[in-house]
Formats: sequence, C-alpha cells, structure tokens
Amino acid sequence: MKATFTFMGSGTSRGVPMLCCDCEVCTSKDPRNNHTRSSGLITVGDTKILIDCGPDLRNQLIREHITRLDAVCLTHPHCDHLDGLDDLQGLTVYSREELPFYSSPTNLAVVHQRFGYVDQLKYTPDGALRWSVPQLDYHEVTEPFQVNGITVTPLPLFHGRAATYGYRVGSLAYVCDCSRIPEETYPMLEGVTDVVLDALRWKEHPTHFNILQAEDEFKKIGAKRAWLTHLTHDILYERDQQCVAPGCTLAYDGLSFDFEV
Ligand SMILES: [Zn+2]
Ligand SMILES: [Zn+2]
Ligand SMILES: [Zn+2]
Repeated sequence: MKATFTFMGSGTSRGVPMLCCDCEVCTSKDPRNNHTRSSGLITVGDTKILIDCGPDLRNQLIREHITRLDAVCLTHPHCDHLDGLDDLQGLTVYSREELPFYSSPTNLAVVHQRFGYVDQLKYTPDGALRWSVPQLDYHEVTEPFQVNGITVTPLPLFHGRAATYGYRVGSLAYVCDCSRIPEETYPMLEGVTDVVLDALRWKEHPTHFNILQAEDEFKKIGAKRAWLTHLTHDILYERDQQCVAPGCTLAYDGLSFDFEV
C-alpha cells in the first residue's frame, strides 16, 4: 500500500532563518532554505502519524492543512521536538478524542515532568475530560506497536550520550537527532527503501551526524534514497544539493515522498 512522508519541519534546533543572523542562507528568498524545527508526517490512507511536536507545530499543521491526527510518536524530549505539545490541544478540542502519544518510558518521564499541567488538569472536578488542555493518551513503547493496523517500530538510537528513538513504518525509517546507530538497530532497518537521516551540516558535531556521516549510514543501511534533515544555516540548498551523494536529497519544509507500507 502506498504511503506518504511529508517534512513538516527540516531544521536544526534554532530553525533557519536563525534569530539575529543575516547570513546568505538566513536572508535567502528560496523557500528551500527555510527550515522550521524537525518533524515528519506519515500518511497511510486516512491515517496520519506525526513524528515530534516541536515549537513550530501550529504553523506546520496550518501549512499542511492537518485537522486531525491518529498518533504522535516522540523521538526525544529536546525542546525543538517537544515544545509544541500544547498546540495538540487545538486538535483534541476539535476531535473530542484522546490522541495516542508514543515514546520510550524514559522520554515520557520527561514529558510528564515538563508538561505536568496536562496531567494535573486532565479532568474537570466532575471527572470529565477537560478540553482546554491537550488530551493525550500516553503509551510507553519499547516494541513495535499498531496505529490503525499500521505497524510502527521504535528504533533505538544514540544522540550523543542520550538514548533516542527513530521510527520505522513499512519501507521508511526516520532517524533524526542521531550520532550513532547501535549495532542491534541495523537488523530493524533491513528492507528500508527511504531513510530520513539527521545530517545537520558539513562540519562534524558531537551529537548529530553531519552530511558525510549520514551518507555513510545511507550506504550501510542500503536504502534507495536518503533524505537529509535537521539542517543548519550552513547549508545553502542550491549549492549543497549538487554536492551530496547520489540518492541523497536535502530536505525542506513541505517536501514529501512516497514509500510502501
Ligand atoms: Zn533536534
Ligand atoms: Zn544564518
Ligand atoms: Zn535533540
């Protein structure tokens, strides 16, 4: 069955354009040099699965005309992936349904700590769900799980010393905020045709793959296409897209591609 992946955001933690910067990328008129904070949307039929809910979430949902979601999968609780959580209220107040929200037990412990009011205000004094806060149905996951019959596999990754999740759905793997793929995760990537990879910039970084490392991982995984994301203002689309390895595409907001589920 055909499925679609859409880059809701493709930028690094500070986004591009970056505040207080007037470099040629940050002032570029080419929309492919615009990167809101990294996030992805997987669409399979009527099912919509969002990966991460960063601080640009509201604008991303409006831009892509998304009015409902079936699940949110969190990679890790850094601000640039989590801080738009409250914007999910705009969907649940409308759907009047709890929205399933998946991540690792460790990640979800941070979510409960950072967004304690969402738990505290979940019910009215009468015991009804309170729609003024996002109504999330949290699921701790360490094994593959199903969303409307679609299998989602958490992929353990390292982001510096932090343990994060990527996610696999069908022939797609989303590997963002990653500086090392543990050996035990590679078998879970067998048969992947499309891999979204953290690539940041050309220069190395302690907690992210750079473009060259992402290209090496692309070859090691054996996918057909790599989509390079979490980009900084060091990347000028027109110039750098010509420099990446064959099969690799620099991501930009709104870019989408098809894969199989
Ligand atoms: Zn990030
Ligand atoms: Zn800049
Ligand atoms: Zn991160």
